[in-house]
Amino acid sequence: MSALPTVAGAFRSGFMASSRLSALPLLVLPRPTVQACCQRFLLKTSAPSQKLSSLPSSSFSTSYQTPSTQHYSPNFDTLYNTMEPFTYTQNPSRVIFGSGTLKQLPTELTRQNLSKPLLLTTPEQVSQGEMVQSLLTDFTVAGIFSQATMHTPTEVTDKALEYMKSTAADCLISIGGGSTIGLGKAMSIRTGLPHICIPTTYAGSEMTPILGETAAGVKKTRSDPKILPGTVVYDVDLTMTLPVGMSSTSGVNAIAHAVEALYATNANPVTSLLALEGIRALAIALPQIVASPQSPEARQLALYGAWLCGSCLGSVGMSLHHKLCHTLGGTFNLPHAQTHTIVLPHALAYNLPGLAPEVQKRLGDAFPESNGDPIRGLNVLLEKLGVEKALKAYGMKEEDVDKAADLAVANPYANPRKVERDGVREVIRRAWAGEPAKQDL
Ligand code: NAD
Repeated sequence: MSALPTVAGAFRSGFMASSRLSALPLLVLPRPTVQACCQRFLLKTSAPSQKLSSLPSSSFSTSYQTPSTQHYSPNFDTLYNTMEPFTYTQNPSRVIFGSGTLKQLPTELTRQNLSKPLLLTTPEQVSQGEMVQSLLTDFTVAGIFSQATMHTPTEVTDKALEYMKSTAADCLISIGGGSTIGLGKAMSIRTGLPHICIPTTYAGSEMTPILGETAAGVKKTRSDPKILPGTVVYDVDLTMTLPVGMSSTSGVNAIAHAVEALYATNANPVTSLLALEGIRALAIALPQIVASPQSPEARQLALYGAWLCGSCLGSVGMSLHHKLCHTLGGTFNLPHAQTHTIVLPHALAYNLPGLAPEVQKRLGDAFPESNGDPIRGLNVLLEKLGVEKALKAYGMKEEDVDKAADLAVANPYANPRKVERDGVREVIRRAWAGEPAKQDL
């Protein structure tokens, strides 16, 4: 069997998916590959984290090519004799992906019979909002509300709703990262208006039915299928302006979704497949973006990976890493993507002993230059990206380490390894100090 077409090739021709799953066969349809994908995830085990079996070696280290079937050796007797039942909820959003896809926005509005969109941005991205507005000459743009803010404060949402009422908008278009998309979600769930997302970072919020909102200094997260945006327009061109540092940390934020999806209690073959593909894509693309921020190929690959990782976040539950970042970000006002980037190697080092060896191997194989060790793979990646490694650089105090540890163990949650204060404290301390992650926790 010959190798499948390259993913870059598939990107060049562009694709549109009416759902997340329906996009995948366009890239990896040949039966042996699909069979192999299933075989990767379905060997019967006793613990949720042991659902994953052996993963083929990565073939992505230099050029990103969808793996040929020779990298897999599916044993279908084993597969079908040992397959565990699973539940997979396919979130119903429409995805339009590629370079220049923004031009399809008018068609998308017409398709949904919408005529008066309100555009949402941050103050820094007003120009991108105006660029979107310039494409909508056949529509009545209700206005641009440009005060989207990190962690979706409810007072900003109230202000935006007030403005929206005065314009009689019939839909919302959020252009930006998780902060702007969060505002769109908060308004959409309150009003029932359709929400179209145009993501410009790799955070993944556009693919999730999750909304985190801050009221009186407390951030609360809820999940509701009605929060999920209806259409997502991924236009690679809009990510070209994302600063290199933010590209790196936002990309690692996305990788974190995929890492935790692999050992979620409700992990399933589809999300695990998306997770590994997403990690590979981002682990290759991000260093290329650092070296060449305007590389269209690297930007495409990163956004593709971000989409897959966001899909994982929207489908399965997260564990220690996300809980820690939520606590650290909310309590000490630490920046979202940067906190994820610093904490991930340490949180994974803590969880690694709780993962089946096969899971560790698959994860290791997803990172270039890992030598099969996911912690090494992550350390190498962060080194290449040149990102900040210490939470103290963002203002966290040493005395906050204990407070964070107390909060992190206050409420129980699913995790592949028992969450114990001493170990979690050491995770936080190392992240605070900026030490390299080590597998001795
Ligand atoms: P962000 O949306 O806060 O953006 C950070 C900054 O980068 C902003 O100033 C923004 O305007 C700017 N920016 C974004 N894209 C740009 C581009 N292409 N060019 C130039 N500047 C650009 O950052 P984020 O990390 O995407 O989002 C963080 C927020 O999203 C947090 O509040 C987090 O909790 C939330 N989030 C939610 C989910 C979810 O599923 N609910 C998932 C991920 C993140």
